[in-house]
Amino acid sequence: HAADTSELFFDEVRVPASNLLGEVEGKGFIQLMQKLPQERHIIGLQGVGMIERAIHETVEYVKGRKAFGGTIFDFQNTQFKLAECKTEATVAKVFADHCTERLLKGELDAATASMSKYWISDLQCKIVDECLQLHGGFGYMDEYPIAQMYADARVQRIYGGANEVMKMLIARTL
Ligand SMILES: Cc1cc2nc3c(=O)[nH]c(=O)nc-3n(C[C@H](O)[C@H](O)[C@H](O)COP(=O)(O)OP(=O)(O)OC[C@H]3O[C@@H](n4cnc5c(N)ncnc54)[C@H](O)[C@@H]3O)c2cc1C
Repeated sequence: HAADTSELFFDEVRVPASNLLGEVEGKGFIQLMQKLPQERHIIGLQGVGMIERAIHETVEYVKGRKAFGGTIFDFQNTQFKLAECKTEATVAKVFADHCTERLLKGELDAATASMSKYWISDLQCKIVDECLQLHGGFGYMDEYPIAQMYADARVQRIYGGANEVMKMLIARTL
């Protein structure tokens, strides 16, 4: 709901030379392409952030929600699901940190950045879905953060290049 996405038209717009973005005139598209690995890894990092918040919110919720003579957290299924989420979140963070290190050294290649974008955004959708399930009906209500996260997570697999396109870029290096 927060994404104010709309089509923009630039017709006969004059831009002062001092407002040139990038260093070389006429090379805008190439310069944009060179930054795609960074953009894609940032999507992966956003995914890690949301995964961590989803798990945090869910642990708080299931420990507070009383049902059937205990809390939702008391069910072994809840503990196992959250243990799986926490493990996968940790694996994602370690990989994301590895990508950030390579980015800072100027060594993050297109295929590895694509792995960060596609794998973490897929995982984000899976974990947010698991966390929403543990909220029961409240998880579907907009006033609960997990409902907003569910909607926001979904676009991560699409923008920045669809995840299918990420897999093509990775496959090209095989
Ligand atoms: C909220 C939002 C914000 C955005 N912000 C920006 C932005 O700031 N800048 C910008 O440039 N763009 C932006 N986009 C556009 C975004 O990058 C594109 O929507 C995305 O790359 C997918 O392109 P498309 O929508 O044209 O889908 P299509 O190319 O029509 O693809 C549709 C679907 O077909 C499948 N598909 C496509 N190609 C292949 C393939 N080669 N192999 C297999 N399957 C394939 C995938 O499942 C894909 O999701 C934004 C989009 C959204 C929704």
